[in-house]
Amino acid sequence: MSKSLQNLIQLNKLINHPYQIDFDYSLSLFDKLTDFITKDHKFAIKSLESDQWVNESVKVDLEIKSIDSANPMNVVSGRIEARLFLTCQNCLNIFENEIDVPVKIALCSDQNAYQGNKDYEPWEIEGCSIKIIDLIEELLLISIPLYVKHDDDEVCEVLKKPQMNNDLMTFPFANLKNQLNNDK
Ligand SMILES: [Zn+2]
Repeated sequence: MSKSLQNLIQLNKLINHPYQIDFDYSLSLFDKLTDFITKDHKFAIKSLESDQWVNESVKVDLEIKSIDSANPMNVVSGRIEARLFLTCQNCLNIFENEIDVPVKIALCSDQNAYQGNKDYEPWEIEGCSIKIIDLIEELLLISIPLYVKHDDDEVCEVLKKPQMNNDLMTFPFANLKNQLNNDK
């Protein structure tokens, strides 16, 4: 099943028969994505064992085909959904994020020079081909918000220091001074 993820889409080779990739893959197949998440978790208050998140599913439902217009090109459309455990940048707790990526892209070598079908977003690739797994991974990585944060303020609990500690921090010498006075 995962063999099709290793297939290449070639920029200059049109696809005779459109094909579908409709399957749930394990997140663990995606090296760059799991690296990203591992690094992200280093900032968390409480770490999460990798076996608790690395086997979450990446649901892929994509169609890959060539469209025949003035400039025939290869296009990818559909949807990718993934559940990623990421660190809230507000409270630094790791939580579950549903990432939902609608896909409608046309592969090209230079997106600024794109002259193709306007229904598709030009997607620049380096070299003349891209592996499907790398494409899926890139699409997921750019869909992760720069500032991941709990939606619900109730859940997002920033640690508050106990009142007593606060007083000590605000007036570090006050207690000391009192003590000195008492010692006299
Ligand atoms: Zn939070």
